[in-house]
Amino acid sequence: MSEKIAARIALTMIAFVLSWAGQAQMVIFEKPLSPRIANYDMEAKLDPKTHTVTGKETLTWQNQSKDSVSELQFHLYPNAFRNNKSSFMKEAHSGMKEEKLEDKTLGFIEVKSLKLASGEDLTGKMEFIHPDDDNAEDKTVFRVPLPKPLLPGASIAVNIEFVNKLPEPPIARSGAKGDYFFVSQWFPKIGVWQDGKWNCHQYHAHTEFFADFGVYNVKMTVPEKNILGATGLEVSKTDNNDGTATHFYHAEDVHDFVWTTSPDFLEFTGEQNGVKIRALVQKEHRAQGKRHVDAAKLGIEYFEKWYGNYPFPNLTVIDPARGAGETGGMEYPTLITAGTVIGLPKGVRTLEMVIIHEFGHNFWYHLVASNEFEDSWMDEGINTYSEIQIMRDLYGAKTSFVDWIGLKVDDLQTRRYTYTRTPNADPIRRNAWQYYSGASYGAMSYDKPAMMMITLENYLGRETMNKVMRAYFERWKFKHPKTADFVAAANEVSGQDLNWFFDQALYNNYILDYSVDKVITKEVAAGEGYDYTVSVADPEAAEKKKAEPAAKKENANKQYYSEVNIRRLGEFKFPVEVEVVFENGEKIREKWDGKDYWIKYKYVKPAKLVKATVDPDQKVPLDLNWANNTRTVAEQERDQSKIHGGYWGMIKFALKPQ
Ligand SMILES: [Zn+2]
Repeated sequence: MSEKIAARIALTMIAFVLSWAGQAQMVIFEKPLSPRIANYDMEAKLDPKTHTVTGKETLTWQNQSKDSVSELQFHLYPNAFRNNKSSFMKEAHSGMKEEKLEDKTLGFIEVKSLKLASGEDLTGKMEFIHPDDDNAEDKTVFRVPLPKPLLPGASIAVNIEFVNKLPEPPIARSGAKGDYFFVSQWFPKIGVWQDGKWNCHQYHAHTEFFADFGVYNVKMTVPEKNILGATGLEVSKTDNNDGTATHFYHAEDVHDFVWTTSPDFLEFTGEQNGVKIRALVQKEHRAQGKRHVDAAKLGIEYFEKWYGNYPFPNLTVIDPARGAGETGGMEYPTLITAGTVIGLPKGVRTLEMVIIHEFGHNFWYHLVASNEFEDSWMDEGINTYSEIQIMRDLYGAKTSFVDWIGLKVDDLQTRRYTYTRTPNADPIRRNAWQYYSGASYGAMSYDKPAMMMITLENYLGRETMNKVMRAYFERWKFKHPKTADFVAAANEVSGQDLNWFFDQALYNNYILDYSVDKVITKEVAAGEGYDYTVSVADPEAAEKKKAEPAAKKENANKQYYSEVNIRRLGEFKFPVEVEVVFENGEKIREKWDGKDYWIKYKYVKPAKLVKATVDPDQKVPLDLNWANNTRTVAEQERDQSKIHGGYWGMIKFALKPQ
């Protein structure tokens, strides 16, 4: 029985088991899919007037390491919005991100108490720390020492009470807008114990998240009239007869939990590969309700076809309220957010793109749980690569993003454009809060790695690349791979040592740029010294030649010397093809290893050279400048006459701002 079928059966079983046996026996999966290190039982009550969530959690944390652990570390993400002294706000205001702080009501999280289930009250021992920078004012991470070290294999249960104030309008994925609430990164969340220490980073303007897998049981109390969506499956809804209702959700083998509620959602449903899809859509986007479901279906279909099994029984898609765009386009386990506008034409595929992209993160981040703080390319970059290839496969390469009233846009081209704007301020592999700028974070996390992956796919072939991706997924699902783990999987599965490629692409800021520098073609007069022969060994051809009229014969005897000069303009060395086209239609494909500074191809042919193109099939989207990849003889002659346009030309050139 596949895990998914088991999960679907469990879907109907959950409520049944609960009704007479209680939550202890709740199961979705027959056996755990993940290590289940960080497990949360939580209760949250929303006050829609004050935008506060009052919460209680019992965290059960299992020490699966070989170390004795003497303290715990937790994230308090909502404190990023506490004031303008947090690292998040300082980075946002240092030009990293345009954030209008004065327009926002700020949010925060306050831990009221922290006690061990065994009784010790550790509230007074909590201490804010700032492992990433020297900002003593940042309150997004705290440590708490344990009364005695937690031994390998032991578990600890911690009871925490907290209050979370949601910003309105939302900032960075969380907050309220009217009676729409999006509650994410909202509870005290334990870091990841890794390599003998806590990996628990502060919340930055440009970092996302990292967490361990576990089981979540969460009760959320909201206005009775509200519709609610959350990670996992709804087990029950209880009317409290005081104008509120409590929704109880259960999720297994996930590493985050998010929820949203509003009285205004419209519900649309569907199913793909046994996965139940539920889209909660704003009333004004009613006409696009089915479109949300259909896009989710495509995401599930493609990711399962190309990469592996989505083990969860359901997927929820949220359409944020107007004015709450900051909560759109984001991924959580089994729940994603999109975003659209009224009347979005069918041919403008932003909705499909965002849903396919965010669903993709259920593979590249939620199942393969890489560290978004330290290896942001491994979720965003790999996922952008998946998104581009799926969009192109679905809608055709040239029209993969937009095909509307004559306007055709390729998803690859839009992503490539962003890469070319900030191509080398950083290497791809860098801590996400340490990139040169927000633009560089974007280019290095999303766009350049996507170009790198497509370049690699074209180099290896799609079949081999898909094998690499499937193997990487199977090997690292429910684990925490690092950059070197992806490289190792690619090397092993492709059967090639690709370090030469990854070293340049991931760990250096090298530019990849090949150009056709110069094309030459000229008639060769007999006896001019060029070595050429005209073969007349074929008697049939010789007969034909004899029969030709004199003028044509003379023409046929003409020979041209042609030369194509290719240069490598960047430090990045990569093999490229060169296509050389002659006037008689002859085409030659050359292969260059791309290692030297330049290469010259020389020909003596009965026809003039017309043009030369490096990377004619555009297999190397990492090539920064495609404008210099082709040169025609005609164009070059025009250019030359422009440049050598006499004194006036020189004066104009000198006066031009450089
Ligand atoms: Zn993303």
